[in-house]
Amino acid sequence: MVRWECPPRCLSPHVLPARSHCEELTWHPPRGDGQARVVRWTCDCDPAFYELCQSGGLRFIRRTVRARNNPSIDESDHWPAGEADAMWIALLHGLAR
Ligand SMILES: [Zn+2]
Repeated sequence: MVRWECPPRCLSPHVLPARSHCEELTWHPPRGDGQARVVRWTCDCDPAFYELCQSGGLRFIRRTVRARNNPSIDESDHWPAGEADAMWIALLHGLAR
């Protein structure tokens, strides 16, 4: 795992800024899937944080952008675990957003 330079309160990884050849993910309104289980997450000290969620046999990424009093939540496409994990790594490294 990458070592992150961050204040001591930050225990979770941060996403790196999007790179120029960053892949554009498709974001959808949340499905309201109560079954989804969060398996990985990024640090919530950033205005936008991400969670890798497992639902049934598939995984997706949930994005929360904090605006004043009104966080906006979006979800990516659903993928098989291997593909979703690769997308999660790409997201952390600024290669998908
Ligand atoms: Zn942090």
